[in-house]
Amino acid sequence: MSNIVVAKFGGSSLADSDQFRKVKNIVLDDDKRRYIVPSAPGKRFKKDYKITDLLYLCHAHAQNSISFEDVFKLIEDRYVTLAKELEVDIDIKKYLDEVKDKVEQGASADYTASRGEYLNGLILAAYLGYEFVDAAEVICFKKHKTLDLKATEKAFKERMANVKKAVIPGFYGAMPDGSIKTFTRGGSDVTGAIIARCSQAELYENWTDVSGFLMADPNIVEDAKPIEVITYKELRELSYMGAKVLHEESIFPIRDVCIPINIRNTNKPEDKGTLIVDDNKPISYSGTITGIAGKKGFTVIAVQKMLMNSEQGFCRKLLSILESNGVSFENMPSGIDSVSLVIEEEQLEDKLDNILEEIKRQCNPDSIDVHPNMALIATVGKGMDRTKGISSKVFSGLAKGDVNIRMINQGSSEINITVGVENDDFEKGLRSIYRAFVN
Ligand code: ASP
Repeated sequence: MSNIVVAKFGGSSLADSDQFRKVKNIVLDDDKRRYIVPSAPGKRFKKDYKITDLLYLCHAHAQNSISFEDVFKLIEDRYVTLAKELEVDIDIKKYLDEVKDKVEQGASADYTASRGEYLNGLILAAYLGYEFVDAAEVICFKKHKTLDLKATEKAFKERMANVKKAVIPGFYGAMPDGSIKTFTRGGSDVTGAIIARCSQAELYENWTDVSGFLMADPNIVEDAKPIEVITYKELRELSYMGAKVLHEESIFPIRDVCIPINIRNTNKPEDKGTLIVDDNKPISYSGTITGIAGKKGFTVIAVQKMLMNSEQGFCRKLLSILESNGVSFENMPSGIDSVSLVIEEEQLEDKLDNILEEIKRQCNPDSIDVHPNMALIATVGKGMDRTKGISSKVFSGLAKGDVNIRMINQGSSEINITVGVENDDFEKGLRSIYRAFVN
């Protein structure tokens, strides 16, 4: 591992010149912070606009031959003010005019949106005194629009051979023909992870406006405690269930090379944040869990049939019915004579009747029950498989909270106990489980 830290700063960390000043203090505080990945300027206050949203709007207007003059003016003002207040020696107006011309001439949505990071990167590089390296030079996509990691590693190595410190804008890269391609929204997180991999960094810092992950959604559990250390796998379980701080795809570029990610708060740099570590790293667990997350809006299709356990191919038939209807399932708890399919409500919309019909016809069950308006709550913790009493705490917590459990599923990875409850019991259920572990 090299002596390099990659630091990615999100949109709220770079929303105005005061935030840029905080970023500069953080970057200069540690000489290892050599590669800096910025997002586009985000919201300065609740009702403010994100620059990326405005850029997409300009593109949509241009495509429909509607003037985007007024929207572009908002963008221009943000960057011109930034450059002026930070007193950077860069003709930002020249770059803005270039972008405007290209959008007028029909530039793609990806090109247009990527300029948010590009322009911010130019200003940040000048402000920090770091070299600006265009992400189009180092982040390479394949012709089918997925990341080309091999080509990226090669391009990075060549381009950065003599570059000690650089600002590399997040969110985009280039296709083999040189055209600009972005990741999905929030994708600067992914760029940061790729740069960390390519530079064999010892740490990937992801600076945002919260001090890491909390054990539960603070909108539901007001005093939710921060998570100090979490493994990639636990994070995946919690993120999937709705705990969002980091782009889901950011773990993949660094997972196999075991680079830890540290989520930090630009507004509270003294906080340690959450450290995300590789799955095999020994962490000492004190009989507790890592976090709880959940989602509403599921439907459970419960199928019963006597002697189901000895009927070969029953589940295969059931799942192929879902497949032929283009529906995927989240969970499939089963007993000897019953199996339940937990499916996102949105996916079922106009397909439910057809699916039920086909199950009756092909599987010939004794009964089928449909339970709509269900929520899933996942209690996640790597120490679970070695600690007695975790599930009993989950269930007694729910009983104490007067929450009826409609379904139980422990993932085969043994880091997750998922319960199904009524949508209306969701918040109460999550709070009850939290209180069973933290008081
Ligand atoms: N600016 C882009 C977005 O708003 C990417 C990012 O911020 O990570 O989605």
